[in-house]
Amino acid sequence: MKNNCLFCAIIAGEIPSTKVYEDENVFAFRDINPQAPVHVLVLPKKHIACADEIDAGNAALVGNCFEAIAKIARAEGLKSGYRVINNCGEDGGQSVMHLHFHLIGGRKLGEKII
Ligand code: 5GP
Ligand code: ZN
Repeated sequence: MKNNCLFCAIIAGEIPSTKVYEDENVFAFRDINPQAPVHVLVLPKKHIACADEIDAGNAALVGNCFEAIAKIARAEGLKSGYRVINNCGEDGGQSVMHLHFHLIGGRKLGEKII
């Protein structure tokens, strides 16, 4: 756990959240400002600041996050698909520096960047 990290505090239960999934390595909760009917943040429990810090030593945790994403999507009934977004660093628009994946769905998502 990293001091002053909002998402580490949420994982530790020090700040309340609406948890939707937890296992040994992964934690997931609903975004406080949802952009779609389903908007879940999926993150490794271990503090990794951003995607730029993924390396051979922690990449398995990213795989764990994507395994969780598939399970959560099924549990949330996202049968027609969904979008997974990671914002990295200042230019990427990342506002909380604890690696997380936005799982968004529950409606037709139109606003594609690519
Ligand atoms: P980013 O901009 O870093 O990719 O995404 C951060 C996300 O965290 C935003 O979508 C924002 O709404 C969400 N967020 C920020 N603070 C909180 C909080 O205290 N609780 C929850 N559940 N989500 C938060
Ligand atoms: Zn953290």
